[in-house]
Amino acid sequence: MIGDRTILVWFRNDLRIHDNEILIEACKKASKIIPIYCFDPRYFTETPFGTLKTGVIRAKFLLESVTGLQKSLQKIGGDLMIVCGRPEEILPEIAGKFNVSEVYHHREVALEETEISGLVEAALWKKQINLKHFIGHTLYHKEDLPFPIKDIPDSFTLFKKKVERESEVRSCFQTPASITIPVDFESGQVLNLSDLGFKDTSIQELLNSEFLGGEAEGIKRMRHFFRESAWVRDPKNNKNDVFYHSSGLSPWIAAGCLSAREVYHEIKKYEQEYGSNDATTALRLNLLWRDYFRFMFKKHGNKFSIKEVFKNSISTIDKAQQKLLMEWKNGQTGIAFIDACMRELNHSGFLSHKGRQMTASYLVNDLNVPWVYGAAFFEEKLIDFSPASNWGNWANLAG
Ligand SMILES: Cc1cc2nc3c(=O)[nH]c(=O)nc-3n(C[C@H](O)[C@H](O)[C@H](O)COP(=O)(O)OP(=O)(O)OC[C@H]3O[C@@H](n4cnc5c(N)ncnc54)[C@H](O)[C@@H]3O)c2cc1C
Repeated sequence: MIGDRTILVWFRNDLRIHDNEILIEACKKASKIIPIYCFDPRYFTETPFGTLKTGVIRAKFLLESVTGLQKSLQKIGGDLMIVCGRPEEILPEIAGKFNVSEVYHHREVALEETEISGLVEAALWKKQINLKHFIGHTLYHKEDLPFPIKDIPDSFTLFKKKVERESEVRSCFQTPASITIPVDFESGQVLNLSDLGFKDTSIQELLNSEFLGGEAEGIKRMRHFFRESAWVRDPKNNKNDVFYHSSGLSPWIAAGCLSAREVYHEIKKYEQEYGSNDATTALRLNLLWRDYFRFMFKKHGNKFSIKEVFKNSISTIDKAQQKLLMEWKNGQTGIAFIDACMRELNHSGFLSHKGRQMTASYLVNDLNVPWVYGAAFFEEKLIDFSPASNWGNWANLAG
């Protein structure tokens, strides 16, 4: 029963209108929707490791992705309220103003994100408004796994074997055809990088960035990958070791501009038409790695959080290690491959999987610098940063 209900949809790392359960559910349950995105200042601060939580390249990508979501919503009659501030202060205020009956969001797995949801939940509850949690970031729904979270095997091989045999990926949610927002809805300020604390000099570095954020661009890149990439369609190329089967979709998947499930069903469609090949197999496998790290975060929780890791690890490194770390960050180790990778990371925010493995392993095993310093640097620099994938892969590499 819709009645005269208003639901607030809190977007976080799900910056899309396709395959988005919180949006389609809100459309079914309410007559009016308030879509909102908060630029939370906590994500634009320094970490205990002397790095930024969000570097300028990802900040730019995020701004484009949020604007992209606003455009997608405008096309179906809605809009996006873009605000700067702590969600636990902003959301209850907006909810009160518009007489909202419920707030919807996608549940996250990393400690910092879940702590923020906890604060929002408590603040809303004071106004007797419920925060409803949805599960929507993984390929496999938590409830379709062949084991409860606490019994998920820590070995990826075992996890993969059982999941592929016993679980199915659900279909994608429909994109809403239209949404209704209140008449006095205000979309808020259009932000730019200086609003997020970046200076002109760092902004200038971005002029050549090859990554454009947003749902439309994410879908375009995915279609391009499947339909036009000659090396995907040419079976001869797929036998050729020179081709690394990388889709380059991670920035859009990490921001939620592209749903992992959408990519999975595209793989299936492609395979029905052309058959499977090394590239489609690798893509499916890698999406499963992503799920695995998210479920490991859910299972082991706090152990992976930057706060806990910092508390439990060596909190300071000596001068010699600091020098090595600095050379590694700047691509000045003297090892050509490592330096090329680090410069690419600094310049573009992206690095191939092999590049990430080699540079991480070099820092930990050759330079003997604690892995958390490397993980924190990647967190600042990577355009596709996502807590479970970054901290999970680093922890995995560091053994
Ligand atoms: C030290 C280190 C840190 C990393 N940090 C991140 C991170 O912050 N964010 C991130 O998305 N990936 C991270 N990865 C995983 C991986 O390197 C990137 O996802 C991949 O290089 C992105 O390129 P692609 O989109 O072409 O991937 P493809 O090979 O085309 O794979 C498809 C998708 O699967 C996911 N994926 C692929 N490999 C992995 C993996 N090993 N773990 C988790 N997900 C995976 C990504 O969403 C990717 O877009 C990290 C890997 C290492 C070794």
